[in-house]
Amino acid sequence: MTILSGKCLCGQVQVSVRGEPLRVGICHCMDCRKESGSAFTFYGIWPADQFEYTGEISQFQGRCFCSHCGSRAFSADEQEAEVKLGLLSQAPTPLKPSYELWVKRREPWLRPVEGAEQFEEDRVRRDDGDPVGTRF
Ligand SMILES: [Zn+2]
Ligand SMILES: [Zn+2]
Repeated sequence: MTILSGKCLCGQVQVSVRGEPLRVGICHCMDCRKESGSAFTFYGIWPADQFEYTGEISQFQGRCFCSHCGSRAFSADEQEAEVKLGLLSQAPTPLKPSYELWVKRREPWLRPVEGAEQFEEDRVRRDDGDPVGTRF
């Protein structure tokens, strides 16, 4: 089984995920811009039981970051863990976004990712047409 791992800038927080992600996306929303200090976030979502971390984290509204260096790390609930893919030791990563959120906030000099489903705002439905419960 594939295991991907990585750590924050200071190395204090380490994350690892097993197996294929449920989905991989990027988000251009205002919250992600502010959280990251950049134009968008790039993340993968795994079942919660395929995700592990060690180290001391702080959090703000469910967004967890390293208490020492402030690197953004992940958000997790009982079902899913969303991991910031910039943490991974592998760069570039082997993962490619299958969707983009909040494309109305995308910088005009960025192009849509080829083949990625485009959402003006949050994801509005699952592949089976049911409304989504989680935001990402
Ligand atoms: Zn750190
Ligand atoms: Zn966002």
